[in-house]
Amino acid sequence: MKTSVPTYHAKAPFADMGGQGSHTQLAPTPLVDGFNRQLTYLRLSVTDFCNFRCDYCLPNGYQGKRPDDELTLAEIDTLFDGFVSLGTKKVRLTGGEPSVRRDLADIIALAKQHGIAKIAISSNGYKLAKHLSSWQNAGLNQLNLSIDSFDKNIFKKITGFDILPTLLNDVDKLLQMTDIKLKMNGILMHDTAYDNLLSALDFVKERPVTYRFIEFMQTSDNADLFFAQNQTAQFIKDYLVTHGWQPKPKVQDDGPAIEYIHPDYAGSIGIIEPYAKNFCDSCNRLRVSSLGKVHLCLFDSQNYDIRPYLATQDKKGLMTALKGLMPIKPEHHYLDSHSGMMNNLSLVGG
Ligand code: SAM
Ligand code: SF4
Repeated sequence: MKTSVPTYHAKAPFADMGGQGSHTQLAPTPLVDGFNRQLTYLRLSVTDFCNFRCDYCLPNGYQGKRPDDELTLAEIDTLFDGFVSLGTKKVRLTGGEPSVRRDLADIIALAKQHGIAKIAISSNGYKLAKHLSSWQNAGLNQLNLSIDSFDKNIFKKITGFDILPTLLNDVDKLLQMTDIKLKMNGILMHDTAYDNLLSALDFVKERPVTYRFIEFMQTSDNADLFFAQNQTAQFIKDYLVTHGWQPKPKVQDDGPAIEYIHPDYAGSIGIIEPYAKNFCDSCNRLRVSSLGKVHLCLFDSQNYDIRPYLATQDKKGLMTALKGLMPIKPEHHYLDSHSGMMNNLSLVGG
C-alpha cells in the first residue's frame, strides 16, 4: 500500500532511552510533550481500509487489498495497557472505516476493561443500526459520524453510497435507544456549505446533537478539489452570531472545535479550523496506525514503530518508547507549509 510517510526504525532514537528491553522502574507520570501539553487522548486507527470513496479523501476508493496484518486484539490490549499507565483517558477508534473490523466491539470492550473513561468511534455510519447494540453493550460513549450533506444526491455524489435516508433513520434510533453521545462531522466545501448549514440548523433544532463543520485540509490526493472547494469557516461563524448563537466556553479536555449554542436549539454547531493560528496549542493527542506506528502529529512526516513492543507484550518497553518520543512531538502541524505531504486522511484517521 502506498504511504507518504517514511517508515521509522525504532532502534535508533529509542536506544537513547535504553530501547526495547530496558525495564528500569518507570514513574507513573503522564505523557507530557516538550511544550508542556499533557497527552491524554489516543486516536487508534484500527484499519486503513474503507468501504466508502469520499471525493475529498479516497476518491477512487481504497486501493489494493486490505492489509492482513492489522494490529491484533492481543497487541491492542498491550497498547491500551501501556497508554493507560501513562495517563490516557480517552480513546478514539478510527480508520479507514473502523466498523469493517469484525472485532470492533471487542476492541471497545478492551478499552473499557482498561478503565478508559471516554471511548469514541469515528465512522461513516454504514449499516449503523446493525452495530449499535453491540457497541453500546461494549461500552461506547461517543460516536462521530461523517455526514457531509443532508441532501441524498449530494451525499451519494460525495461518498459513492446512496444511503443517506437509512443513515438518518439509524441516527434517530441511536438517539432514542442508546445513551451514546452523537457528533456529526461535515466537511466544509464552498459549493455545499451554505445549504449544509441551513440543513444542519434544522437537524439540531430538536436533536441533542453537535454538527461540526471541518475545514477541508489539503492532501496530495485531493489538490484539485481543495483548490476548487476550500472555504474558511468565517461565514458560518458570522451567520451563527448574527442569528443569536454564542460560542460555548471551553472546559479542560475539550477538543479544538469551537461549539456554538442557542437557547432555542437542543443541539449545537461546531467549527473545526485546522488552519487557524492557535489550533495546535491545546493538542492532547497521539495517533497510532493500524500497523502499530506512532504518529506524533497528523501531518508529521515521520512515524515510529512500536509494534515490536506490542507483539511481545512488552508494556514497559512500550512506555519507555512513548516517553522517549515526547521531546520530539512537533509544536504545530505546519499544514500551510507542507500540505501535500499526506496522501489522504484515511491513513491515520483524520
Ligand atoms: N471513516 C471514518 C469517517 O469518515 O468518519 C473515519 C476516518 S475519516 C479519515 C475521519 C474524519 O476525517 C472524517 O470526519 C472525515 O470527514 C475527515 N476527513 C477526511 N479527509 C479530510 C480532509 N482532507 N480534510 C478535512 N477532514 C477530512
Ligand atoms: Fe472512508 Fe472516512 Fe475517508 Fe470517507 S472520510 S473515504 S468514510 S475514511
